[in-house]
Amino acid sequence: MERLIDKVALISGGARGIGAAVAARLHGEGARVVIGDVLDEEAKETAARIGAGAVAVRLDVTRPDDWESAVATAVNEFGGLDVLVNNAGIVNAAPIEDYTLDQWNTIIAVNLTGCFNGIKAAIPALKKSRGGSIINVSSIAGIRGYEQIPGYTASKFGVRGLSKSAALDLGRYGIRVNSVHPGVISTPMTAGMTNDMSHVAMGRVGHPGEVADLVLYLASDEASFVTGAEFIIDGGDTAGTVTVPERA
Ligand code: NAD
Repeated sequence: MERLIDKVALISGGARGIGAAVAARLHGEGARVVIGDVLDEEAKETAARIGAGAVAVRLDVTRPDDWESAVATAVNEFGGLDVLVNNAGIVNAAPIEDYTLDQWNTIIAVNLTGCFNGIKAAIPALKKSRGGSIINVSSIAGIRGYEQIPGYTASKFGVRGLSKSAALDLGRYGIRVNSVHPGVISTPMTAGMTNDMSHVAMGRVGHPGEVADLVLYLASDEASFVTGAEFIIDGGDTAGTVTVPERA
């Protein structure tokens, strides 16, 4: 099936993890994809693995000029831009009393301002699309608070709010804006963390491909009336806590 035929997508942080899975999934449904990342070699390898119709570009999401050239690559190589996936993100951790201004500024710059920069750079090209879609990857830490990650939590709540405001401003151009809120997903970001998932309904972590399937829906014309909405994909983590381990 080719649900994204004739569409062009730009994915930030697309070298690995969720972003790489999104790039492969969108490409698999007919999209041509631009993979933007600060990991130059990994981005190139991911684009090569995906094959024809995938290119890697240097993109530091904190730099508006990098965004301008990433969008220009989509337009010059593939003829336009229809889908922006603001996926790049980092995490840093400390209790609020020890959390430094430096940690705060760094994470807000990447996770929140990076998203803002991407939206700003993509708007002119998306306005020319027959149905632009912006998908901002937030987190369940953009839905409820988590201890010891004050900057991450604030940035992801910010992404959720930014998505709604942008959805209201851009609807008039046929551009949809939605946020995606994953729970714990097995990626390099979470690799070293011990994740006991017994309290979660599905009892396991998620896989990048599962998030990619949701992003695919939001990118496609199947979601033509979906905007300003938040999509939780967390195996039931935010629904409540499972306390009885097994059925009697
Ligand atoms: P990851 O670390 O595996 O991948 C993140 C990618 O973003 C990397 O390729 C990295 O190089 C890139 N990146 C970092 N800073 C960048 C910058 N300044 N400019 C461009 N690219 C940059 O992480 P992941 O788990 O795949 O996370 C992807 C997104 O999903 C992030 O926004 C993350 O916050 C979010 N998320 C992840 C989880 C999870 O459990 N893995 C849960 C909820 C939300």
